[in-house]
Amino acid sequence: MDTAKLPAVVVQAERVYQPGLHPGGVVVSFGGQVAFVGSREQMEAAGIREALKSDVFAVEVLEAENCVVTPGLIDGHVHLIGGGGEGGPQTRTPEVNLTQLTKAGITTVVGLLGVDTITRCVESLLAKARALETEGITTYIYTGGYELPTRTITGSVRSDLVLIDKIVGVGEIAIADHRSAQPETRELARVAAEARVGGLIGDKPGLVHLHLGRGGEGLARVMEIVDTTDLPPAQFYPTHVNRSEELFSAALEFHRRGGSIDLTAGVSPDLGEEGAVEPSVALARVLQAEGSLKGITLTSDGNGSLPSFDAQGNLTGMIVGPVDLLVKELRQAVLQKGLPMEEIISAVTENSARVLNIYPRKGTVQPGCDADFVVLTADLEVRHVVAKGRVLVKDGRPLVAGTFERT
Ligand code: ZN
Repeated sequence: MDTAKLPAVVVQAERVYQPGLHPGGVVVSFGGQVAFVGSREQMEAAGIREALKSDVFAVEVLEAENCVVTPGLIDGHVHLIGGGGEGGPQTRTPEVNLTQLTKAGITTVVGLLGVDTITRCVESLLAKARALETEGITTYIYTGGYELPTRTITGSVRSDLVLIDKIVGVGEIAIADHRSAQPETRELARVAAEARVGGLIGDKPGLVHLHLGRGGEGLARVMEIVDTTDLPPAQFYPTHVNRSEELFSAALEFHRRGGSIDLTAGVSPDLGEEGAVEPSVALARVLQAEGSLKGITLTSDGNGSLPSFDAQGNLTGMIVGPVDLLVKELRQAVLQKGLPMEEIISAVTENSARVLNIYPRKGTVQPGCDADFVVLTADLEVRHVVAKGRVLVKDGRPLVAGTFERT
């Protein structure tokens, strides 16, 4: 993308919501970066309104009366090339399209493989991530999948992290699940050591993104590794931790020891996960107990399969995970449960950016950061989406479609 051809984008909303809340609701981006955030008066005083009248460059004004601005949403767990397959080949879920993500306010996404690492591979995932990046959003991926030893592109997790820009870690490695490789504690520690060193050399977070299933062991072995090795808790990034009350409590203990934890919007009683802690309830409980959501993220698990199994392990049903769950959870938490927007938003913006080592370039709306932001209506519906300074969604309709999507 030639940033010189990008218009200046101007939004005059009521308020910008982000952790450490900014006064005023005016955001101006230029050349793919945020150039100004503040009040209308500050905008006048800085001479920005005058400057924008110049006919040297194009200016796009997005109507935003009664709206609010948030940083572009970061979804750290999406099955970009599909997932599933536990019910045979006909249950493999299809690839995601650009506009499914952008209409949901997502401007940064991390793709990953799940249970099927035989008919799907990290190379295809990398190509898909590159495609979406070209089409307009920012993308990263994990190498590997559920199993251990893990499949990679270059032969090791360490070299994948060092050599392939988009790779930020390994995962989702399944534990406590009947579909996991039933890894030994030592194998788990070894892959974490690979991720740690690969991350250090490659200047990446080197995350070990762990899929937690319904198995009784929960996070016990992760705690054991943290207690008995030199690996720091921050190396591990467990997800689906709201799957049960018991697992959620263990995850909060892990979080208290310094690890980040990921709640899954797709793991909810509403979507058939019996016994799960509703994501907005989990967020409310953390906020009440700790006063902030630092180290807590929320991702969708979008575009994977959401299979259900009976007590004998028989598949009883399956749906494709929706990708618009982050904004739905925002509505649930803020409008239904009355939780403060400036705190809740951190779980899908700043906190994810910090875990991924891309803060403050992403996850916030400040001068100098990437121009990724979302304009939401008073009902918290996605109205406009700007990613890397380009308007991708305007008035709820995609302006930019994926290569093979119909506009
Ligand atoms: Zn998973």
